[in-house]
Amino acid sequence: MTTFQNLSLPINLLENLKSLGYETPTPIQEQSIPLLRDNKDLIAQAKTGSGKTLAFLLPLILKLDENEHFPQALIIAPTRELCEQISGEANKLARYKKDVKVITLYGGTSLRTQVASLEKGADILIGTPGRLLDHFSRETIHLGEIKTLILDEADRMLDMGFADDILKLVSNLPKQRQSILFSATYPENIDKLTKVILKNPVEVKIVSKEKEVTIEEFVYEVDDKDKALLTTLKHFQPNLALIFCNTKVKTTEVSDMLHKQGFDVATLNGDLEQYERQEMLLQFANGSLPVLVATDLAARGLDIDGIDLVINYDTPMKTEDYTHRIGRTGRAEKSGLAVTLCDEYGMRKLSEIKPQLKAENISTLTPNKNFYMQGEVATLCIDGGKKKKVRAGDILGTLCKEIGIEPKEIGKINVYQKNSYVAIKKTVIKKAFNGLKSGKIKGKNLRVWWLD
Ligand code: AMP
Repeated sequence: MTTFQNLSLPINLLENLKSLGYETPTPIQEQSIPLLRDNKDLIAQAKTGSGKTLAFLLPLILKLDENEHFPQALIIAPTRELCEQISGEANKLARYKKDVKVITLYGGTSLRTQVASLEKGADILIGTPGRLLDHFSRETIHLGEIKTLILDEADRMLDMGFADDILKLVSNLPKQRQSILFSATYPENIDKLTKVILKNPVEVKIVSKEKEVTIEEFVYEVDDKDKALLTTLKHFQPNLALIFCNTKVKTTEVSDMLHKQGFDVATLNGDLEQYERQEMLLQFANGSLPVLVATDLAARGLDIDGIDLVINYDTPMKTEDYTHRIGRTGRAEKSGLAVTLCDEYGMRKLSEIKPQLKAENISTLTPNKNFYMQGEVATLCIDGGKKKKVRAGDILGTLCKEIGIEPKEIGKINVYQKNSYVAIKKTVIKKAFNGLKSGKIKGKNLRVWWLD
């Protein structure tokens, strides 16, 4: 078995890895790290959870020149969440070195604050394509000394239509550099990026050894999809249900219909601001809104435990989309259930993308007409987060010790940079809300409001 010691790493880095609890390299790390230290360009196929972030960060951090004043590495990633995750990992990994500065640059947050951080200097830039390009055109980032370029989740960036932005950015990087591309899948159009960006890349592919999970798949051919959707929900009675539509307009229509029928529903589509998306997902994940109606935006990367039913209200357009959508259930080795509702057109589409699936008659389902999906909890938002040094424990302390809420009446607590969110049983939420409004968290009066 390979250990980190076998990879001949400096002792202080080995100690840091140990303190982080990383004992042995994962297969993607074992294969990629030597190649990357050898300055090879690399295409790696690996999924989230494989240890891919450390695979590309470790050689990069080893290579950083402490005397360089400009950014030496550029990491491009599809979403703000992924940028934050990579940055967190980079900061942990680099703590054995002096003053490694990592800056994240994504949309939905103030450009001015980002410029102020950039002015203080950075070694590693991690950003989304659009915001990076924005900074580049304003000349607020200097890309002339970049020695390593990393594209993370390249397939997702292609999916989100970022190819041109990426190519524009890359055309402004020094030609002498190492380029690395990580992707969970290799869609056909990936060579749009690989051909232009990478030089004689080595390929590494990790065959996933994850335990196969079983997702039961059902198809119903129906005339009235709204009615069929209600029948499906009331028959299977899930705890958390994710419903996919093909268009933004449809997500809103389906959400409104379900809401009128007494379901607590979240909607996720590209029309929402970044913070609204975060709040929708959070309320879904913490059970305040146990139904999520979404476009394919939620089909990739979304890793929420406990989604026990995925419904394709609209038939996906590609086999790949079908796979990604239904992959949102059956996570963490639990089994899952996927239902596709097809009208005549949908049936034709389905026979092209998943010919092996056969439709059943929806009249075999036995809906419980008294079943509704309503959150037992609702979510309060608090105007204070990591920046104000608020921690989950502080919120819990105020709620339990000062306001008299029982721990079992409190659900998930999420603390972000500016805000924190806490799920609370609806039976005591008024008490919690009034208590937080007039009380103090960490000695501060913080504004509180209710999400709905
Ligand atoms: P990733 O695939 O990069 O999203 O990583 C998945 C998780 O595995 C992260 O929480 C890492 O901190 C963790 N991880 C990465 N490498 C190792 C390792 N060699 N041993 C144990 N955990 C690891």
